[in-house]
Amino acid sequence: MKLILLGPPGAGKGTQATMLTEKFGIPQISTGDILRAAVKEGTPMGLKAKSFMDAGGLVPDEVVIGIVKERLQKPDCDTGFILDGFPRTVPQADALSDNLKDLGKELDAVVSLEVDVEALVERLTGRRTCKECGRGFHISFDPPKVDAVCDACGGELIQRDDDKEETIRKRLDVYNEQTSPLVDYYADAGLLQALDGMQQIDVVQKQMLDALQAV
Ligand code: ADP
Ligand code: ADP
Ligand code: ZN
Repeated sequence: MKLILLGPPGAGKGTQATMLTEKFGIPQISTGDILRAAVKEGTPMGLKAKSFMDAGGLVPDEVVIGIVKERLQKPDCDTGFILDGFPRTVPQADALSDNLKDLGKELDAVVSLEVDVEALVERLTGRRTCKECGRGFHISFDPPKVDAVCDACGGELIQRDDDKEETIRKRLDVYNEQTSPLVDYYADAGLLQALDGMQQIDVVQKQMLDALQAV
């Protein structure tokens, strides 16, 4: 299964990708997680990316294209992968298409999660993220079993710097301007499966599995 999860910040891409990873045994490739790890380690790429991420803008295309190209060559991607948060611009989508062609691979589907703006803000302001493994929770909609502790690894849950309301609004504008054209892009390619992402996590999950059965 070779999949892209598309949707605005807070749509539920990471949450659903984690579930799909467990279900299908294929890796989740989250450019956001990879970039945050690079920032934490203080690598040259992380230093370059940090200011764009803090401001709620996009990291330059060539940086993220390079990350994904390298990641897709790893053997764990042979049987499939879930791209979460990539592509985010038309040039990224074009580069992915060339890259997959070179690897002799084809996408099976692009699942887009549709969620209202106010719900996105509520989800992102209440999101808490594991400092260690990156897993996401929500203070009301998906709380951890123990307050502020990750169910998966016991790590500390924190609020991401860019999950503050002002930066959230900026990220949503960036999505509308630069990423939303990809919905038509993949519809034209005959790959798009649009889902109602407003429902509860397990309902969205079920819809997603039903949609993927058909591909
Ligand atoms: P969210 O899950 O809230 O949408 P991500 O974790 O995917 O956020 O991304 C966090 C930040 O990392 C983005 O705001 C952006 O600065 C950067 N980023 C992640 N993926 C990309 C990408 N494909 N292109 C450019 N920047 C990216
Ligand atoms: P994305 O990766 O698209 O930015 P996340 O999967 O991190 O989004 O979800 C954003 C926040 O919303 C998280 O706190 C998550 O627990 C919560 N969330 C995800 N899906 C739903 C849903 N269907 N209903 C309510 N909250 C959700
Ligand atoms: Zn964790």
